[in-house]
Amino acid sequence: MKLKIPYHSLSTNRSKLAESNPICGDPMQWFDTEYFRNESLYSTTFDFFINWSNNTFQPIAWVKRVIYSGFTIEPNEIMDSIIKCDGKDKFETVKNFCYKNGINLSYILIPEIPTDAWIDNNNKVILFDVKKFEENNGANPVSPMSVKELIGLIHSYKVDYKSVRMDSEGLKLSTTSLEYFLSMWNNKIGYKGDAIYPGDADIILFDEDYCPKAIIEIKKHSIGSVKRYASTIEEENISLYVKGDKLKYQSLDILQRHWNCDFYMLFYPTTSETSIKIQKVSELKALTSKVLPLPNVHSPVALQNFQSQFVDFMNAKMIIANTTSKNQKVYHTNPHCKYIPYDKTKIIPFESEQQAIENNYHLCTACSKE
Ligand SMILES: [Zn+2]
Repeated sequence: MKLKIPYHSLSTNRSKLAESNPICGDPMQWFDTEYFRNESLYSTTFDFFINWSNNTFQPIAWVKRVIYSGFTIEPNEIMDSIIKCDGKDKFETVKNFCYKNGINLSYILIPEIPTDAWIDNNNKVILFDVKKFEENNGANPVSPMSVKELIGLIHSYKVDYKSVRMDSEGLKLSTTSLEYFLSMWNNKIGYKGDAIYPGDADIILFDEDYCPKAIIEIKKHSIGSVKRYASTIEEENISLYVKGDKLKYQSLDILQRHWNCDFYMLFYPTTSETSIKIQKVSELKALTSKVLPLPNVHSPVALQNFQSQFVDFMNAKMIIANTTSKNQKVYHTNPHCKYIPYDKTKIIPFESEQQAIENNYHLCTACSKE
């Protein structure tokens, strides 16, 4: 069986790949490097589930791969195919991250078939439970499933919360015909469009103890397709996307709270623009942003420049300031201070206490007692 890493393409015409940028390549590559490893930062990615009945993270991760030739349910052959596709290092990284964080990891292997073909329950996906395979104690790690069975499983993970609705056209871009099918076509087999595929975390950065440090959501900056999007990289902001993709961003927000880690948006152009924007986010609102030169994957110097600036941005101690209802200008040294306004549009970030003081802000009394 031969597997490949799925790539975004147009749902209605899978031969039409999503736009990309030949200079900077895939941003995933910028983080999986020697530089980040020297900073004790490692990266992985997977799809994850939220229990929408109580808005909590479900400790279940799926890594999806496309089957482009052959089909087997023999566990050792499947494991070999995964290693051939991902490489041993990448596989071990996601496996160890999941083990250490109490997450049950499965690979979901999806045949490359036309969207309509998923109506036929003879067409199966394979769920491969990594822990069961490694423990090798008689439990079969391989579960072939029809779409109907897969939807039943997703429902059992409670992602089918009543408010969950895709718009009727389904996903515009998708990485597999299965996801497109689930987002739209499932009406045809008697479900009501509520069995959505889990959300994904584009990049998860973690330290040498597998402790999550940051979630990074990568967003392509393309011009002109949809009006509400920003016209320049500088104008890009998470606020432009949260409403239109509510479930995705709510999922990421819940994941950030669960791990108590940083959350960044990374905007990069598929146009001729030569900069990117990184944005630090809390409660789905921008805290602070920085515009950087577009990394060039073919230039180690340019790439390293991005990497050191990103790490500086991560490590920058941020001082949050706001004006109180009594019109007092205060700043906080505790990023979790209860007097920080919930509405993030009302806060002003400073890079240092000195800077806040120079702007006539005074230390909050609660923060001063700590
Ligand atoms: Zn405070």
